[in-house]
Amino acid sequence: MKTTSNDPACFPFENSYASLPERFYVRVHPTPVPNPALIRINRGLAEHLGLDPDYLASPGGVEIISGNRVPPGAEPLAMAYAGQQFGRLVPRLGDGRALLLGEVIDACGRRRDIQLKGSGRTPFSRSGDGRAWIGPVLREYLVSEAMAALNIPTTRALAAISTGELILRDRGLPGAIIARVAASHIRVGTFQYFALRKDVQALKILADHVIDRHFPDAREATNPYLCLLEYVVAKQAALIAKWMAVGFIHGVMNTDNVLVSGETIDYGPCAFMDGYDPAAVYSSIDLRGRYAYQNQPSIARWNLASFATTLLPLLDSDIDRAVEAAESVVNAFGRQFNLAWSAEFRAKMGLAEEKDGDAELAQDLLERMAANHADFTLTFRRLGNLSGTEDGTHPKADSAVAGLFDDAASIREWLGKWRARLASEKQGDLARQSAMRATNPAYIPRNHRIEQVISAALAGDFGPFGKLADILSKPFDEQPENAGYQLPPGPEEVVHTTFCGT
Ligand code: AMP
Ligand code: MG
Repeated sequence: MKTTSNDPACFPFENSYASLPERFYVRVHPTPVPNPALIRINRGLAEHLGLDPDYLASPGGVEIISGNRVPPGAEPLAMAYAGQQFGRLVPRLGDGRALLLGEVIDACGRRRDIQLKGSGRTPFSRSGDGRAWIGPVLREYLVSEAMAALNIPTTRALAAISTGELILRDRGLPGAIIARVAASHIRVGTFQYFALRKDVQALKILADHVIDRHFPDAREATNPYLCLLEYVVAKQAALIAKWMAVGFIHGVMNTDNVLVSGETIDYGPCAFMDGYDPAAVYSSIDLRGRYAYQNQPSIARWNLASFATTLLPLLDSDIDRAVEAAESVVNAFGRQFNLAWSAEFRAKMGLAEEKDGDAELAQDLLERMAANHADFTLTFRRLGNLSGTEDGTHPKADSAVAGLFDDAASIREWLGKWRARLASEKQGDLARQSAMRATNPAYIPRNHRIEQVISAALAGDFGPFGKLADILSKPFDEQPENAGYQLPPGPEEVVHTTFCGT
């Protein structure tokens, strides 16, 4: 339904998911909270969505984000989905602590979901309380917005509020709600939900909805559903390559946490690594390292195979032909990922042209980084300050990179190979350095900073959270006054595990 009004409480909703069959969701209202207060509003995003940021930050707006008031035109619902969690199939998950309020059309004409997370129990809550405490809410706000500023497809954070309610975890913790924005909240697990019920009619309705919403070009293809699969595979290949290029570890790549739109979702046990370690895992529940940094491409492929399986009845009436077609699309993931990965790392090394051996040069650097405990982000950032010739004009810049490695000789040897490669580039030093500074961030949401922010918030001080959010909104700017935030943790500050967002 479409609503238009000058009343700022009247969001310009244009809901499409709520018009799908009733078995796609459960209509449920948010549970009121005692004492909502604004933590932060994302003014730029609000404006982009056609919402009034001043109103959203006012008591009336906070009433809406807290779920205490359902605005006109909203049709709150909990979406049904299934999922493979650590490989184990769970036929019914669904929004247990989130509600889709409705959809709006943004300034670029794109449909966007507005969802409240932490808004109370739903029929999908199982034994959960439907709530969130401020820790996971602040983490999601910071990391999802940092990802957006790094130009990585992601859900966004529109606002965070505290609820004035104590949430029972291992102790009582202050409650919070985040308003999340996404191209849609349709997951691989949404398709699995219907596939498991052998509800082919629902699968077709869902696939058509996704095509209309995200991949309208697929409609023109001879086999629109095969084309849909191709698009989803391509989006994941590009996305995971981007994660790898910033040292991001998602931490819980279950199929219910994979959006078919290709945006990153679910910032529970995620982390950006400090020192480069391909086996890095931060999630406290990922005991076997299933979702370690280096496993992310193969897990993505595994998740895509699950997605393809759900589409089989739509691909061809002959099951063998359907399987063959699906396999060939999923098998293309590896090649697509490798191409995307090479392009990401070529840019990170400042190479504008494509040459044989570039991927090996990047791999060689990564191996030296791993062996020498070099900080992932700082290595690439500082590489961008180096001159392309070893003429001794920038000995300090070279030392700043070498100082990140246990054995400086190892990286100096690599720098020789890199400079030999740079010699064949047409692009000059200045152009390369500025391109590298626009590619390799200075600021990432480092774990120890997030933990410091959460500790301060627990003591009632949201100042550090606001400051970190501001810094992370300009990750490629030098920001000399905030230089300390570029640095990895000191020995006592290292965070070894992050927890699920519950
Ligand atoms: P997640 O770990 O966020 O991917 O969530 C996995 C499933 O558990 C989803 O169905 C969530 O809705 C549900 N869930 C997580 N936390 C809670 C909670 N506090 N209350 C109710 N359901 C929850
Ligand atoms: Mg999830």
